[in-house]
Amino acid sequence: MFLTYVRSLPNNEEQGQYLALDLGGTNFRVLLVEFTSSKQKILDCERHEIPNDLRFGSGQSLFDFIAERVIQFAIRHQLVGVRIALGFTFSFPLHQHGLAEATLVRWTKSFNCSGVVGFDVVRLLKAALKRKMHKSIPYVDVVAIINDTTGTLISGALMDKNCVIGLIVGTGCNSCYVEKLENIEKWPFNYSEPRQVVINTEWGAFGENNVLDFIRTIWDRSLDYESVNAGKQIYEKMVSGMYLPELFRRVLLTLIERGVLFNGHVPLELLRPYSITTSSMSKIDMDTKLNSFRNTKTVLSELFVRCDYSDVDAKIVFMINNRITQRAAYLIATGIWALAKRIDQTDISVAYDGSLLCLHPYIKLWVEEKLNKFSSSTNKKIRLIPSHDGSGYGAAIVAALCYREKRPKIVKRNGKVYEVTSFLNK
Ligand code: ADP
Ligand code: MG
Repeated sequence: MFLTYVRSLPNNEEQGQYLALDLGGTNFRVLLVEFTSSKQKILDCERHEIPNDLRFGSGQSLFDFIAERVIQFAIRHQLVGVRIALGFTFSFPLHQHGLAEATLVRWTKSFNCSGVVGFDVVRLLKAALKRKMHKSIPYVDVVAIINDTTGTLISGALMDKNCVIGLIVGTGCNSCYVEKLENIEKWPFNYSEPRQVVINTEWGAFGENNVLDFIRTIWDRSLDYESVNAGKQIYEKMVSGMYLPELFRRVLLTLIERGVLFNGHVPLELLRPYSITTSSMSKIDMDTKLNSFRNTKTVLSELFVRCDYSDVDAKIVFMINNRITQRAAYLIATGIWALAKRIDQTDISVAYDGSLLCLHPYIKLWVEEKLNKFSSSTNKKIRLIPSHDGSGYGAAIVAALCYREKRPKIVKRNGKVYEVTSFLNK
């Protein structure tokens, strides 16, 4: 569990344009967000894939790649000759020392860049931006670093005052929640209002002390053993988008080897690790209310060039897929319930984001069903509220929150709001 230093939530006093950068796992996003007294708006959102070699290369080349895209984005939006604040969403375990100071504890998901663990990520980003910035182009000022769950919670809180939990189920899985200061043993600061702080649970790491071993299968164990971070992120490996298809592939292989599936013939494509996508699993789960297993058969034909499957094979494939996704949903619900029990509030809204939860046809429903079951004997009501792009949007809100106090003079030019700072000497 990590402190985030985020304590106050937005109050509509934020104004101006802000940049947000969201580095999550699969893609990274650059956003331009505008706050006026009456509304907040995402003016533009650009998405880039991170090339594979950059995930395992040097930290410097990763940050240079990102900085280049940020500057190009800012230039495209004619943010020339201005200072613009940027909120950075960085969805990896961070030890935070302040709102804009955080060292990386370790890489997760599919990242393993050198020279970043143990270093201040904000400094690395600032240095990369500095290398790309010239006099005439924008001065991008990194003012805050947050986790994607925190961003999701903050943008959820803007819509719903009961929102006290943030949840991400995408490439990885994590959550955060609002905790009372009095419950934090070693709160390093004063106890002024608001007497709360957002805690990043990093619950993807749950199970590293073997507490989940009683439900881990042979496939969970082998996946972990052969992963780039063996022994780590045990819960995440049972619930998130990056790993579910790999579990599925491993179970299929076992059943083929035992002659239960496809007459014992292995389709060649299945031998490649991480070759199945989560969207295929979503498609197979769409057969939940059909008896024909039509989608499952389509996926099998799409995935494998040569594979003779029977109706029974299709049914087995559907069932394996379904058990894996449903188990993930139930484990996620269990995590949320553990947080909800801690929170002294009857109505609890959970802001969520992440493609697995947003795009899978049933996972969200299964999570809700399980939560209803857990809470049926209590007076708690738990609601899931979507916070699309919340992870990045939240970073812009935090950037705006930081600037609220020390906001420089604002000028309007060509209908755009600019902040003129002493840096420009105007
Ligand atoms: P990130 O976690 O990298 O910030 P996302 O929230 O978009 O990004 O999550 C991406 C993950 O979502 C992918 O790794 C994949 O596992 C999963 N995903 C993508 N498309 C689908 C889909 N159609 N159905 C279910 N899961 C999906
Ligand atoms: Mg994300």
